[in-house]
Amino acid sequence: MSYKKFKIEYRWAEQKIICKHCDSVIPMGKPVLTRHVYNPKQKWTLRFNYHPECFTNEQLFYLGDIPKPIRMHRGRPALTISVEDRLDRRREQKRRSYHLTKKKKCVIITREG
Ligand SMILES: [Zn+2]
Repeated sequence: MSYKKFKIEYRWAEQKIICKHCDSVIPMGKPVLTRHVYNPKQKWTLRFNYHPECFTNEQLFYLGDIPKPIRMHRGRPALTISVEDRLDRRREQKRRSYHLTKKKKCVIITREG
């Protein structure tokens, strides 16, 4: 399931409109939700009319297929170790990074003669 880009618009029904979800008639003067699907490559627009409740139900149904996000926050989850262990870990990380970033002496060899 992929997310499709579309624009939605709430408006009053200016005439009788058929809901795309439940195929029932929306009478004049009732709120209608119109979904515009635009294809920028081929330059056409599709319009679908819904009851506001029907649209919500349909989108919630599609959301059921998409797995929920597991973590609510970005980044690494917090460690579940004690403060002393954490300090030891940090010390070890610093020691490793020092040895990794230590600059090696480079020698420029020039050809003589
Ligand atoms: Zn409907």
